[in-house]
Amino acid sequence: MFELPEYTILARQINKTLVGKTVKKGNLGNSPHKFVWYNRKHEEFTKLTRGKVIGKAWVQGRWLIVPCEPGYNLVLGECGGKILYHPADSELPEKYHLWIEFEDGSSSTITTQMWGAMELFEAGKEQERQYIKGMRVTPVEKAFTFKYFSALIDDLLKGEKRSTKGLLTQDQLIPGLGNASAQDILFRAHLLPRRALSDLSTGQRHDLYDSIVDTVREIIDQGGRNDEVDLFGKPGGYVRLMDSKAAGKPCPECGTKIQKMQYLGGACYFCPKCQV
Ligand SMILES: [Zn+2]
Repeated sequence: MFELPEYTILARQINKTLVGKTVKKGNLGNSPHKFVWYNRKHEEFTKLTRGKVIGKAWVQGRWLIVPCEPGYNLVLGECGGKILYHPADSELPEKYHLWIEFEDGSSSTITTQMWGAMELFEAGKEQERQYIKGMRVTPVEKAFTFKYFSALIDDLLKGEKRSTKGLLTQDQLIPGLGNASAQDILFRAHLLPRRALSDLSTGQRHDLYDSIVDTVREIIDQGGRNDEVDLFGKPGGYVRLMDSKAAGKPCPECGTKIQKMQYLGGACYFCPKCQV
């Protein structure tokens, strides 16, 4: 699944490669997929995007917004899979869920593996969409300060019991993160995924905050995770510390065997000695 860093890389590449291109034909997918959310029929999508010019894309959490100017915004949300650019006369993937052909012969396809939204809104209306509307501050924004982060935890402590992993992956409390980056964030913060937020000392809140900001920045600086590909089909350079390959191997810090457990809808990998 794309998370905030991968979408950030894709937006940058779209802004260098696709901005200014005129849409010749926008097509919905050639492969039915139950969990792709469209808000337009194929004919309508084609009609509304024809002749539109790609504008400067931006990211909000796990949502990528690509203007089709004038008047519309293409919204790609919560996707895992591939968002690819194809120069003129190059081969397309066999299956795709969106294909935008440009007048210069190049095109772009979007293929998702699990699910994802591929919707076209009148510009500005996407801000009213569920999950975008009322989105909390994301870790790449200036407003994501330690003061904000600590107040968020205080606020959550008034409600249901939450763990560190829950903070990172549930209910878009910190939008843009997901199960992949959460593992490394927790390892670097030396906190277990099940650790209750209510137990964190001020120092541990600082460690967690620093780890979120630093990990997100590092993944972006390295061009995204190496288990995802960019607009040109190239894997990112960030190698996760804690993933399925790490399970059973020695911890990079202390040598203890890395353990795996299922928790909150996904596998967790952690060091039972370094993380408390
Ligand atoms: Zn360790």
